[in-house]
Amino acid sequence: MTNTDKIPFLDLIAPHTELEEELVSVFKDALRTGGFVGGPAVEKFEQDFAAFSGARHCVGVASGTDALRFALMAAGIGDGDIVITVPNTFIATTEAISQTGARPVFVDIDEATYNMDPAQLEAYLAGECYRDEKSNCWRDRKLGRRVAAVVPVHLYGQVADMDAIQEIADRFRLMVIEDACQAHGAEYFSKKEDRWKKAGSMGVAAAFSFYPGKNLGACGEGGAVTTNDAAVAQKIRMLRDHGQAKKYFHDVEGYNGRLDAIQAGILQIKLKRLPSWNQARRAAAQRYAELFDNANLGWLAGQEPAWSRSVYHLYVIRVQNREALMKQMADANIGTGIHYPVPLHLQNAYMSLGYKAGDFPVAEAVSSEVLSLPMYPQLLAEQQERVVDAILRFAPEPVITVQAEKASYAAVAD
Ligand SMILES: *Cc1c(COP(=O)(O)O)cnc(C)c1O
Repeated sequence: MTNTDKIPFLDLIAPHTELEEELVSVFKDALRTGGFVGGPAVEKFEQDFAAFSGARHCVGVASGTDALRFALMAAGIGDGDIVITVPNTFIATTEAISQTGARPVFVDIDEATYNMDPAQLEAYLAGECYRDEKSNCWRDRKLGRRVAAVVPVHLYGQVADMDAIQEIADRFRLMVIEDACQAHGAEYFSKKEDRWKKAGSMGVAAAFSFYPGKNLGACGEGGAVTTNDAAVAQKIRMLRDHGQAKKYFHDVEGYNGRLDAIQAGILQIKLKRLPSWNQARRAAAQRYAELFDNANLGWLAGQEPAWSRSVYHLYVIRVQNREALMKQMADANIGTGIHYPVPLHLQNAYMSLGYKAGDFPVAEAVSSEVLSLPMYPQLLAEQQERVVDAILRFAPEPVITVQAEKASYAAVAD
């Protein structure tokens, strides 16, 4: 008899039942102390998450979106600026940019990694911007605005090519703010510094989300900014708490963007498990790759260059007839997802930015073919076999889109 139990796309129950007693004790502590917002639980978590991410400071906030918005604001981004990012991300990335008063400008992605293509970043800056000697910055020729920052998104748990992005950013006087909302614990080998670096330790600041489905998720909403810059951290502490360093003395107008003590306590407990959970995700990704390799399908999933250690927030393949395959997998009781079906430059919300179909061919091609498979630390080998089986049984074949050996990444540790 074949097993037809549901294989969910995401399992938010298993990791919490495993930890139920510890998690409930956090809630009980809060009830007994009345400490619901801020306080020692938040500070303790901030210290531990900074250490985990290899950054000097961490500021807990209410969501990943707040984290990115506050990071940009604290770095001095605001009205009239341009911030460069990619079109294949969650809309929170560009919401945060717009809500500072800046305007998002997109550049296309690398087809092999789904992350920002440094060559496209450079092409935009060198081709469409000019150097404004007077204010010592680069401006978009058409928009006249200062290009102030770049936000690489570490999509699906894999760090973008940060050496290359940082080098371009330095040359064009841009700040780098990482969107690390999907990449808690991911690592990047910097050739420049000859060492592995953690997501969240590389830019001026980095944004993390603790939305429940993320690699480190709260039992509700949460987020954090990491930074090595004490002044940036201090500004974010002000912004998250109504612009006050001292109660009722407001130096600037801020926001209500604080992290709950209960969520911080929960995150503290789950953070201890995160290294082994990320390891389990990497092992599951390896297993998927082997199962597909055995079937001799060629290049189906995104690539992990030698300079990357992904934490596989998502495991994404690229297939034609995606909708038909999804339906067949749903019939086999297997959950899947699409991240993301419509690139941001073609969303109704961004009509006013003036982009059109064809502007970012890689992001557009990918968006109609990506399919996210079940991926979580508790995923079993037998479940993965069933997932791959369901894909291989898909008719009509072929399901594979990309065969070309596109990118050749240099080896790291030679
Ligand atoms: C989840 C996510 C965000 C936003 O985080 P929230 O906590 O939901 O506000 C931002 N960017 C990316 C890439 C994300 O995946």
